[in-house]
Formats: sequence, C-alpha cells, structure tokens
Amino acid sequence: MAVNRKVELRGVVQGVGFRPFIYQLAHRYDLKGFVQNSSVGVFLEVEGDPPAVEHFLEALQNELPPLARIDTIKSSEIPYSGCSDFEILQSQSRDDKRVPVSPDMGICDKCQQEMYDPANRRDHYPFINCTDCGPRYSIIQTVPYDRPNTSMHFFVMCEACRHEYTDPTNRRYHAQPISCPNCGPRLKAIDSDHQTVAKDNTALKLAVDAIKAGKIVALKGLGGFHLMCDATNNEAVSRLRERKRRPAKPFAVMFPDMEALKASTELSVSETALITSKEKPIVIVRKATKLSVAENVAPYIDRLGVFLPYTPLHHLLLERIGRPIVATSANLSDEPIIRNSSEISKKLGDVVDLILDHDREIVNANDDSVVQMAGDQKITLRHARGFAPKSIKLPFKSKKKILAVGANQKNSIALVFDDMLILSPHIGDLNSIEAFEYFERTVETFRRFYNFEPEVIVCDKHLNYETTKWAKQLKIDQRKSSGGKNSKFKIIEVQHHYAHLLAGMAEHQLNEKVLGFAFDGTGYGDDETIWGGEVMIADNHSYERVFTLEPFALLGGEKAVKEPRRSALALLFEHYTLDEVRSLDLPLLKQFSDNEITLLYRSWKQGVNTPRTSSMGRLFDAVASLADILHISCFEGETGLLMEQLYDRSITGIFPFYFIDSVIKLQPMLNAIIAMDEKKIIVSMFLNTVVEMIFQIAEKYPDLALLFSGGVFQNRVLVEQISRRCAKEKHTFYFQNETPINDGGIALGQVWFAYYYDTK
Ligand code: ZN
Ligand code: ZN
Ligand code: FE
Repeated sequence: MAVNRKVELRGVVQGVGFRPFIYQLAHRYDLKGFVQNSSVGVFLEVEGDPPAVEHFLEALQNELPPLARIDTIKSSEIPYSGCSDFEILQSQSRDDKRVPVSPDMGICDKCQQEMYDPANRRDHYPFINCTDCGPRYSIIQTVPYDRPNTSMHFFVMCEACRHEYTDPTNRRYHAQPISCPNCGPRLKAIDSDHQTVAKDNTALKLAVDAIKAGKIVALKGLGGFHLMCDATNNEAVSRLRERKRRPAKPFAVMFPDMEALKASTELSVSETALITSKEKPIVIVRKATKLSVAENVAPYIDRLGVFLPYTPLHHLLLERIGRPIVATSANLSDEPIIRNSSEISKKLGDVVDLILDHDREIVNANDDSVVQMAGDQKITLRHARGFAPKSIKLPFKSKKKILAVGANQKNSIALVFDDMLILSPHIGDLNSIEAFEYFERTVETFRRFYNFEPEVIVCDKHLNYETTKWAKQLKIDQRKSSGGKNSKFKIIEVQHHYAHLLAGMAEHQLNEKVLGFAFDGTGYGDDETIWGGEVMIADNHSYERVFTLEPFALLGGEKAVKEPRRSALALLFEHYTLDEVRSLDLPLLKQFSDNEITLLYRSWKQGVNTPRTSSMGRLFDAVASLADILHISCFEGETGLLMEQLYDRSITGIFPFYFIDSVIKLQPMLNAIIAMDEKKIIVSMFLNTVVEMIFQIAEKYPDLALLFSGGVFQNRVLVEQISRRCAKEKHTFYFQNETPINDGGIALGQVWFAYYYDTK
C-alpha cells in the first residue's frame, strides 16, 4: 500500500541545486508528489511504496549536492492523495524569511571542462556557472534567492539558457546567475580616462597584454576588484607599491595552477587541501627556497599568501598570462574593497593603467578569505568569500532577535533569530567614513535578508568603538522618535576578551566552564585599563579573570600600537630607574634621541597619555624591539611574522617568571633578555615562555578544558607548540578554526552571549 510523506528541510538548501536533486531522486525511486522552496527551507511530499520512500529519504541525506547542508529534517505521514507526477512547484513567499543566504563559490570542475570545450556554447565564456558554483551572496538584493532578486535581473535569458534553467534534469536548473555569450554579462576594458576601449575577448586580451607588459590592472572578481600585476616582475611590483603607498606589507599571489604554485612554495597535505578546496581562500604558506615570484612581493619574510583562480574570468586571464600575478584587494588603506569601476577611477585612477570591468553588478562586497595552517590547526585570519556569510544551526531557539555589532578593527556583524546564527563576511577596520558606511550597509543588508528587527543589540564596552557609539545613538534616536518612551531594543555590552572566548565557545557550541586564554592587541577592560593578556574561567553566562599579565604603559597611547619600541621602553621604565635605562647598551635606545627618552619618561611618570595595558600583543612588540628585530612596524602583525621566522625548535630554554596573586610577573624575564643579544635565542625562549605560562596556569585547573582566542593566536609557532603540548599532556583544548580567531570573531562571541542571556 502506497504512503504519503511530508518532509520539511532546513539548512543550506536553496540556490544549491537542491530541488533538481530531489526531483531526480524522486524519479529514481518512482515516487510522486512535489518539492517547493519556502521561506524557511524546502518543503516536499513524496508518495509511493513504503520501502521506496525510505530509500529516498536515505539517499536524500547521503547524496547531497556539494554546496548543500541539511540542519534539520522533519518528516510525517499524511493521507495519500494520489498524485500522478513529481513536480517542482513555484516558491512560496512568507513573511518570516529564514533561509540562510549562501556564500559565493569558485568555478566547479564541470563548468571548467565546459569552458575549455570548443564544442560547448560557453567555450571561453568568462561568466559560466551552474547550481554548484558561481556568485550568490555578492549578487543578492533580497531573499528568496531567485533571479529577480539578484543583479542578474537586468539580463534577459536567451532561449537556450531558459531551456536549461527550466529543465529539472539539467545541471543549470534554477541556477539563478545562468547566462551565455548571447544573453549574459559582457567584459569591457576601461582606460585611465575612464573611456571604454574594448569589449569581450578584446578587452580580456588588453588586460593580459597590460599585465605582461608590467602594467597595473584592476579586475572585477566576485565580491570586489583586485589590483593585479605580474608577480615575477620586480619593477611592476615596485610600481604597485609606490603608487599604493604600501612599502612592505606582503601581497597575495594568484598562480595559474597547482603546478606553478607548488614550484614556489612548500606545502603540507592540509595546505594543499585548503588551496584546492571549493572555497579557494588565500592560504599563507612557506615560500620555497627557489622562488618564481619577485622578492618584493613579500619582502623579508619567509611566508607567502597564495591562491588559485576562482572565477572563470580569473582562469581565462591566468591561462593566457601563464605566470603568477599579484592579486591584492583594490581599496584605499582603511577603506573597504571597491565594487565598481567608477570608484576605481575616482580613488585609484593614478594607481591603475587599465580596468577590466563587466556589467554584472556586485551588490554586496566580499573580500578574499585568508587562512593558514598551524600544525594541524586551521586558523582563519579573514572570514569572507567562500565561507561567509556563515550560518550556524543553534542547539535551541532564541527567545529574542539579536544583532551583534562587533569590534572596531576587523569588524564583522552577527545575527541570531530562531535557531539560526549568521556571521557576516569581514567588513574591516572602521577607521574611515567609507568603512563605517560599509558597516551600516551590511547591517541593512542582513536586516533586509531576514526581515530582521533586533530586540537586542550587543556591543563592546569600549566607548570609543564606532560600533558601540552607533548602537547607543540608535537607542537615543528611537527614544526621541517614540516621544521619550522605550526604544524597541535593549543594549547588552560584553567585555572584549570575554567576547573572544565566547566566540570559541560558539564555534564549538560549548556550554560548560572553560579555562580561557584571551591574548590579543588591545581591548577595553572592566577596570577601564586596556587588557590583552587575560586568563579567564568562563562559561556562556559569566567570567572570572584569574590571571593577567603585569601591566605596563602604552607610551603615547595609540602610537604604541605601531611602534614596538614604545612598548619596549615602557617595560624598561617599569622595572628600572631612568639612569639604569640610559646605561643599558640596547639597540632600541638608539631608536630615540636623548631628549625623546627624557620626555617619554616624564609623561610616563606623570601618567600623561600613557594608558596602562596587560596586552600580550604589546609584550610581543616589546620583546621584538628589545631583541632588535623590529622597532617601528609597517603593517599589523609584522612582529608576529618576524618572530615565527626566527623561532628555532632546537632551542628549548625558557625565561624565568613568577606569579603574585593573579599577576604574571615579568621582571626576571626582562633582566634575562637585556643581558642577551642573539635574536634567535631571545625569540625562541620568549615563545617557549608564553607556552610555559599557559601550562603552569592550566595545571592549577586540571578539570577545565582549555580555550584559546585573540589575535596573538594567529601566531603559528605558538599554536603549534600549544597543540603539541596539549596532546602530550592530554588536555581537552579548543582553537577557533572556522571563524576568525582575531577581532573578526568578536561579533560571534557577543551574539553567543546574548543568546544565552535569558537562559540561566
Ligand atoms: Zn559549475
Ligand atoms: Zn543565454
Ligand atoms: Fe581583540
């Protein structure tokens, strides 16, 4: 006797070829019924023999399309209705929009084959895509993800495309960005006077020739423009550095293929897997001793950010150029990645020689993702294209709609509604008006996607964070407009380092007490000083700060962040008299004039513009300067990179340190460092010492799992040493792997806290 099953599926089930997959499965098992997108997922009914229905349900979970993910599956028996066919029905539209928007995906193998098949009608077509690959988030205005809601709605499908689009057995069935040379977007080349000088293939050829000739080209990718030049051409790279005023910060390099990439790098198995994954992130790896790219691509360091072409256009370009190219996000420093060619002309007109543009609009910007491996730990440095927006299924339904606005640097935002958590792509440092507008635009975008009106807004405790100010201003504005009555939402503030730890708990969905190590640059502490070397016993409801680094001053406040020499000098002031400091034979002291030292000492003594900090990041800086490795940094994270490089595994010594109450005292270590001059030994012993501090503290709490978060854990050596020792000493431990371990994860931690807020 035939049965009828009603099934409701939630997860990543739209825009990923899910309905045609169901359609084909239903035919395989000779079942009747229908499948339909709803605003919460996919809804279907299948009728047929009971064993066939069971097989169908099994296959449905085992043979998912590559981009799909099922979070929940609800099935129930309903009366048999005697359908004669299996159909794909039109989308239902409901008010509560809860289907997660999926990230953009690099070109799939099948599309790549077609693109190089002379018999295919999309031979060498730069916008080829299918239900398994191509743009998603970057072209969506609103949900549901249907063509009229994307920037593809300008393009009218030709007969052939429409046929594929409407044929459930075709691999482009309902591929919303479907197009071909007859009906889709077109390339155009724009010169430095913003004149269109060529179209289609000729435009591509101009870009290829320009890059080969050492010129700088801006090229439109998935979520924004790249600036590109020949990575093997020293002069071209220097020109890009000069014009962009970026003296030393490493550039990422896109290689034509794996073979070329392998020739310039030393890769582990897991690094290879990341580079070739469907998300195609930038992976930071070890340079080979013989390098095919110019030295000034990543000067002074032994690491290189590498990636493979991920759009059909990148493939076509790299295939013709045949050598690695620099591909760096097109933006002005402190501003978000640029999405359209007019802005390139306006802002980077004197940087680029040619723009390779096209007419598929980028609605939502999304930068390249950046990851690296530290031993067997994957560390996410920038969570963006391919991975973001990320949707996480929660263990229970949230009572409130929550928006978390994140940190000021490496900002991202996060949302919670029902049992869904969404983490936005990397937004960036909010140091410019443009960046802040980008933040506001992203908040608007996600509100529109999910019809989302926050009942709770979570922010950092730092009063000067733009995001905190924004939340508070919004509350004031709402109060005013409602005539002094209550605003619609409540604000929750979360301490920065606790938020780091919460981000780790969110990623691993922990609901227990952990011993958390939150080591980063700087964040606002509960006692109004600046924290950053914090050890906390924490759970989802509260925390207790159990250890902290002995604080020292930030000479000149913010200036100290860019000048490691200031942290070093402050540490010396803290532990020696001015005369003693002056008598030291340290290279760092030659970085200041006598007068500067006197002035800085005076302001330190009087506490003028010298906020105190327990920051581990600043301690790294201080040690780098004491060891004469780096006194003024050119880019964020430089200290860490240089230290990793100097680290020598065969040096196993540690510096002395001790605890008084809850403070980690540094004087013995400092005494030892200033008596040494071998950089490699200082750095290796220092990193060993940080690891030792962690495990001496861990010993005091043998029952707690260890959790590590904060920007300092972007340091590969540190993460490797910690994981190794955790394994040896059998500690349960967690790093963030899939979400940013730096300030990009703050919003995630904030939203996780608010999600648990009322559940105590
Ligand atoms: Zn494809
Ligand atoms: Zn077409
Ligand atoms: Fe932080």
